[in-house]
Amino acid sequence: QIVTRFAPSPTGFLHIGGARTALFNWLYARGRGGKFLLRIEDTDRARSTPEATQAIIDGMTWLGLDHDGEIVSQFDRADRHREVALEMLEKGQAYKCFSTQEEIEAFREAARAEKRSTLFQSPWRDADPATHPDAPYVIRLKTPLDGQTVIDDQVQGPVKIRNDQLDDMILLRSDGTPVYMLAVVVDDHDMGVNTVIRGDDHLNNAARQMGIYTAMGWPLPTYAHIPLIHGPDGKKLSKRHGALGVEEYRDMGYPAAGVRNYLARLGWSHGDDEFFTDAQAMEWFGFDGMNKAPARFDFKKLANICGQHIAAAEDAALLQELQGFLAATGAEPLTEQKIYLLEQAMPFLKERAKTFPELLEKAHFCLAERPLEIEEKAAKNLDAVSIGILTELTPHLQSASWTRQDLEGILTVFAEDREMKFGQLAAPLRAALAGRTATPSVYDMMLVLGQEETVLRLQDASK
Ligand code: GLU
Repeated sequence: QIVTRFAPSPTGFLHIGGARTALFNWLYARGRGGKFLLRIEDTDRARSTPEATQAIIDGMTWLGLDHDGEIVSQFDRADRHREVALEMLEKGQAYKCFSTQEEIEAFREAARAEKRSTLFQSPWRDADPATHPDAPYVIRLKTPLDGQTVIDDQVQGPVKIRNDQLDDMILLRSDGTPVYMLAVVVDDHDMGVNTVIRGDDHLNNAARQMGIYTAMGWPLPTYAHIPLIHGPDGKKLSKRHGALGVEEYRDMGYPAAGVRNYLARLGWSHGDDEFFTDAQAMEWFGFDGMNKAPARFDFKKLANICGQHIAAAEDAALLQELQGFLAATGAEPLTEQKIYLLEQAMPFLKERAKTFPELLEKAHFCLAERPLEIEEKAAKNLDAVSIGILTELTPHLQSASWTRQDLEGILTVFAEDREMKFGQLAAPLRAALAGRTATPSVYDMMLVLGQEETVLRLQDASK
């Protein structure tokens, strides 16, 4: 069974790169009947905050990346990390190193002067324990002196690192605290993680981590190190380019399904498919489609895909997500009446809206209450002549049977009789029904609002 994990350090919000890493791990596991675990790497006590942990959980919840099992806190497992280090010591895979900071510095200086490698070589590596002083020590891993470590990376291909380029890394500090690199390996092993998908900034760590697996005789996970996300100009992703917290995308009103779809395309592709569902992504997602080159973040593409997801969504689900968006932005909950109107309007509201604010803009006529506030631009379409027209039109609408066909007939004949262009009739109607100039079609609005409300709004406008 495939077991993946997302292992963020809770030092800030869940940024878009982290969200993409989580998504890849989620897709990979979900598409294979596997498990997707969440571990909070909170060993750096000075930089980890509970707020950041919460922001990560909230971000994942919003994105719909559900994880299996309990959330693991890395810090809570420090005793176990220590236990493993001592086990390596026991087995002779690690050793106590009593070298002081000054001695290490002196070693490096001498190495520099002699133009040798400055990687520290501890004199304690093969020392007889009988010669050990009663002094503080760290525990170091015994890294093989020759040969090479090959990371069989699913994205980067085989990555070879000569072992003489790796020093004997510290596993336990002199105060007994485990280092991060040890914690990652022990946790991944204990959690049963067998597939590690993460940013390629961790590629160098992989070689070191493999040393711990090997020393413990544990099976190695499959590694896939994915390229980072760059801005549209190919440079490091900046705030302006979208290096934002996931919650900022939520607050900008992008639908979660669209963000998932777009993020999946950052560094992975399936032929020319741009738009796909979660089910398709789970079925298709794998290492083959992953790219070695950094992905480029492009707001236009994100918006475009989000628009397609809004258009394709089920009306009821979309309305629910819209309500979630309103709640997140601190708006008042919708009344029953408004929900009812939105339900009727959703089939045409969702066409061509890329975000929830765009959808709400189109839905303004459902949300506005009488007497409507009329925008300045729209007020120009309610001059004396236009009001005269609306006043004349109202009785025709009062006797209409309120089908699209009937309304189309009434308005067409009304305009023709007065030799008006349809636009001359539609403009004051838009102003009266929505208080705006840009609105859905007048027929769509009238049908959703119903006869009584339509007539009342026309009468308001004529006052
Ligand atoms: N905690 C690390 C980070 O947030 C990830 C470690 C890993 O995936 O192995 O960058």
